[in-house]
Amino acid sequence: MTFRLANLGGRATLVDTTGGCHDLERVGAGRLTSDPMAAIRRPADLAALSASLDPATAECSLEEALAKGVVGPPVPNPRSVFAVGLNYRSHAAESGMELPATPLIFTKFPSCLVGPRHDVALRSQLGDYEIELVVVIGEGGRDIPAEHAWQHVVGVTVGQDVSDRGLQFAAKPPHFDLGKSRDTYGPTGPVMVSTDSFANPDDLALTCSVNGEVRQNDRTSSLIFGVPALIAYLSSILTLQTGDIIFTGTPDGVGAASGSFLKDGDVITSTIEGIGTLVNRCTA
Ligand code: ZN
Repeated sequence: MTFRLANLGGRATLVDTTGGCHDLERVGAGRLTSDPMAAIRRPADLAALSASLDPATAECSLEEALAKGVVGPPVPNPRSVFAVGLNYRSHAAESGMELPATPLIFTKFPSCLVGPRHDVALRSQLGDYEIELVVVIGEGGRDIPAEHAWQHVVGVTVGQDVSDRGLQFAAKPPHFDLGKSRDTYGPTGPVMVSTDSFANPDDLALTCSVNGEVRQNDRTSSLIFGVPALIAYLSSILTLQTGDIIFTGTPDGVGAASGSFLKDGDVITSTIEGIGTLVNRCTA
């Protein structure tokens, strides 16, 4: 009972197995609204409707919608956007940092979120890319045990934790939040995929290239704190809410490690197997 959910022009849209798009309010015959934030509260309905979609009745293909630039972030208005620093050994090593003993949590303010083909408006010479698996909380809760954590995830998507390294390390001690939250520095999408779509959601291949050159290539099984541990940790401190999202961290290969920062015209391509691809052009 899998589903793929997209945001077309602000309307929740189911994507069928052939890539066809179906407006949720239309196929839900009025039982479901087009509000993307309301849609993620109804995973059973999304799965049931997806199983009955007729590709012949699709309004357009997801590829057409992406090309037109009308696809927004699948979760456009989360209350909280958590992110995790130094959560792959390879990235901690290239950053010259110790492995964290507890998850290093910061926030990307939700105003940074944009869609899967949106431009990234660089504001400094030290812009950087970080591909990350993003998980979306379905049923919220407090003190969620790790062994139940995936049951609280309604779906996963691809995220780019675009970072301004100058801003990130401008203050002493450094504050990650603002350096990760400039406008447009949070592309996500192209769809949110239900977790039951994957044989093992803890082991997904992720790659990031800049102008076609592969810079990052790893699997989420390399996470130091995997999704269950992150949900258990966060929910031991605060109540997770439906629609909260978590950027789970990035592997090695970021620009800061090699001195190759983003510049005007660069194209960042970020792919996670079974979900899809972000393509974001940088503008100066
Ligand atoms: Zn990151």
